[in-house]
Amino acid sequence: MNDTAQKIRLLMELRRQGIADTRVLGALERIPRSLFVPMSFKDQAYENIALPIACGQTISQPYVVAFMTQALKVGERMKVLEIGTGSGYQAAVLAKLCRRVYTIERYRSLMREAEERFAALKISNITGRVGDGAKGWAEQAPFDRIIVTAAAAAVPAALKAQLAPEGILVIPVGEDASGQRILRISRTAEDFTEESLLAVRFVPLVEGIADES
Ligand code: SAH
Repeated sequence: MNDTAQKIRLLMELRRQGIADTRVLGALERIPRSLFVPMSFKDQAYENIALPIACGQTISQPYVVAFMTQALKVGERMKVLEIGTGSGYQAAVLAKLCRRVYTIERYRSLMREAEERFAALKISNITGRVGDGAKGWAEQAPFDRIIVTAAAAAVPAALKAQLAPEGILVIPVGEDASGQRILRISRTAEDFTEESLLAVRFVPLVEGIADES
């Protein structure tokens, strides 16, 4: 099967799994996941599985990308912050759905490769930074939406603080890989509401910038 046929099969599977938002499905259709996976996994790029990338990290399962993106309810005028750039795939999907994506990664080499992919795809509304995403991006705050693609032990206070009024934060939370859940935290007039959406397995959110020497 060629890439297009495999991609169509994947999109149909996501629909069956309950991804109904046509904007989200359209964005997944437009971003070639094969460009975001290592050469040796190209033939599996459109399978509904997570795959290894450099630095011991992973590109998330397409279903989880679609689920989290749908849960985020992204509008086209919104400013979105992503923590955990990794391959850049999730950021590229978000870039098709909103005004600008800010994305933070703790590995400089992953950020460099992701930025090369954005350039190759002529995606110009993503701004990347190497840093500790748990601290957010104070200079660019507030954000209409924040998505975290690494699992935190608890919701980082800085991220809640950087949410705009009516803002939404989608984040996997859990102490170990067996007990993680995707949470959706919505900022209301006085407070925050929290929903638990899905059991997942993510690589951990790690403090500080990675030492790559
Ligand atoms: N969204 C990515 C998934 C990458 S996996 C994609 O679409 O491919 C999670 C990423 O989060 C890893 O690259 C990891 O290095 C990064 N990460 C972990 N803790 C972090 C932190 N505190 N700040 C920024 N990035 C972090």
